[in-house]
Amino acid sequence: MTKQLILKAGREKSLLRRHPWVFSGAVKQVTGNPEAGDTIEVCSSNGDFLAKAGWSPRSQIRAKVWSFSEEEQIDGLFFRKRIVAALEMRRSCGFGIPGGQQAYRLIHAESDGLPGFVIDIYDNIAVMQVLSAGAWRWKDTVVKILAEILPLAGIYERSDAAVRKLEGLKAELGWLYLKNEDDSDAKSGKIQIQENEVCFEVDFETGHKTGFYLDQRESRLRVGKLCNDKTVLNCFCYTGGFSLFAARNGAKEVLSVDSSAEALELAQRNAVLNPGLSTKMTWMQADVFKALREFVLEGKRFDVIILDPPKFAATASQANRAARGYKDINRLAFELLNPGGHLATFSCSGGIDASLFQKIVASAALDAGVDASFTGSFIQDSDHPVRVSFPEGMYLKGLLVQKDFNS
Ligand code: SAH
Repeated sequence: MTKQLILKAGREKSLLRRHPWVFSGAVKQVTGNPEAGDTIEVCSSNGDFLAKAGWSPRSQIRAKVWSFSEEEQIDGLFFRKRIVAALEMRRSCGFGIPGGQQAYRLIHAESDGLPGFVIDIYDNIAVMQVLSAGAWRWKDTVVKILAEILPLAGIYERSDAAVRKLEGLKAELGWLYLKNEDDSDAKSGKIQIQENEVCFEVDFETGHKTGFYLDQRESRLRVGKLCNDKTVLNCFCYTGGFSLFAARNGAKEVLSVDSSAEALELAQRNAVLNPGLSTKMTWMQADVFKALREFVLEGKRFDVIILDPPKFAATASQANRAARGYKDINRLAFELLNPGGHLATFSCSGGIDASLFQKIVASAALDAGVDASFTGSFIQDSDHPVRVSFPEGMYLKGLLVQKDFNS
């Protein structure tokens, strides 16, 4: 018997617009007793075929679409085609080719037609997150394909993201493939990458996400260029991304703040990996909310300030609390900026969209009594594409704001 998910009447609209999720509230009936991860057919209430999807009985998103084509089989060939297409797209944007960026996101889940899979490449290591029941079912297939089509020393699984719980999946960590079982370099869990002109060590076993915030590559490059001969404050610095780009561009001083001792330790090692920097670099372990208040009281001032906090709101329902958090740090940052100074401020909260973020930053400037202008905007870099039918994919937004010279 075909495993089918029948939608309630009128609930097919989003699928017809090629949005890849089926929420629990839209489901009328499920037939054929599918098991978690099985491929099911999604049909409208009058039985029309809409999509083939992975079944996630424990998640509020009950099914995630693999294909909108009735003819397409969901098998090894399907996954190979999707992965090869994603690789071509990355190569056409300068990733994974000689002279290009060797650390990049190869698979960005829904936006590459592969919901539940995130795959980052760090030179010859692939780090994979498997985040849905459907993806979990095809994990071994995907590992085999990756090992065949890319010159990899190893594939490491980092399926420890919180969303796994929503899918009823336990955390899974460890090697899925090692070309050479005795490869002590790979097994160290650390790898050196170069992003534009700057070197970083990535700890893919224990770092955040798959180890590095690849999505901020373009922003780091752009913000770095504003930092020549400037005093810079990098808040939520993690392993020193923006700090090192500021230094590479000749910043006078960079003060970097993060609450994580491990991140700061790696940040300092990263500074050593980039010899010849003449910038005075200071690393401070502190809560940014508190540190900014103290800097204001001490009368400190900076020419460039970067605010790249972690996610404050995953969903729209947490947006209010998150908005207060964003407004707080942005207001303090405006107070700390020298006249003519730049603030690069980011939000990776899914629950806060770009227009709300812009309002929050604008009202933070007003509260600080500062005249300022928006001079630029950022989104995640192009190896984290946003499918036009999947606006949720645009999670990272940033604004560049300049304080008036006479403010
Ligand atoms: N800009 C970084 C990524 C930032 S990730 C890059 O380019 O790589 C967010 C960082 O915020 C993490 O390193 C985390 O340790 C830190 N963090 C989270 N809450 C914090 C807080 N209240 N104060 C200071 N740092 C915090």
